[in-house]
Amino acid sequence: MANPHMLNIALDMFAASFNKKEEWKTEVYPLWEHAMERVKDVHLHKAILNICMKLHKYPPTLGHVVEEVKEVVRDAGGNGMEINNYIFCDDCMMNEGTRRVSAHFTILSQKKFKVHTCAARCTCDGATQKYPNMGDYKSLLTRMTNDARITLHAFHVTDRRQSQLRMQEREPQNYARMMRVIKEREHLGVHNPWMDIKDKMVDGRYVPEEITINPRPMPKTIDKPTTENYTTIRTNIDPDDCIF
Ligand SMILES: [Zn+2]
Repeated sequence: MANPHMLNIALDMFAASFNKKEEWKTEVYPLWEHAMERVKDVHLHKAILNICMKLHKYPPTLGHVVEEVKEVVRDAGGNGMEINNYIFCDDCMMNEGTRRVSAHFTILSQKKFKVHTCAARCTCDGATQKYPNMGDYKSLLTRMTNDARITLHAFHVTDRRQSQLRMQEREPQNYARMMRVIKEREHLGVHNPWMDIKDKMVDGRYVPEEITINPRPMPKTIDKPTTENYTTIRTNIDPDDCIF
């Protein structure tokens, strides 16, 4: 946020350039303060310089300053709207505006159990500003609850206490299978080396062995999102295609 000192400098420059009286500054200060809440000092400074140096047919207003700030931010590589860092609520801070969702439901016509996982937008201001086109998790929940083609069994969503979904929430079928296999092996008396490690970790005795350096180069990671985002733009999709 622009600090009060910079805001005063900006107002002084503006007042001097466009013949504003001293009272004007006091009057508009709260308004400017609010408008510049998410603006960096450096951007505000540049914008004011630009405004004061331009020729104006009519005296510019705060709206012009805001437009100029967006222009400056755009020139600096931002997208114009992305004035500064977003302020997220505690529930989405760890995922920077998104809430991870895993919905468990049955498609009634086929009696088929399905899981839909996605990233949906949080409902706080920061998330709304950052992802204007992404659907929020609450509307997804409402939509799934009201969809007569399916029965919703569970709707897991990340929050301040749990920023990632657990395996049993993301992949309930695989989790159940894994638990079943563990049980079966236990029953057969097959030794599970992971349990030894787990026991040691629990009582704090576990020290990882020295790691041997792998000479193979690291595989190239592809910078592509793997999680599907929930968007309200697509409508009326067959629930079997997944979806919503
Ligand atoms: Zn949030």
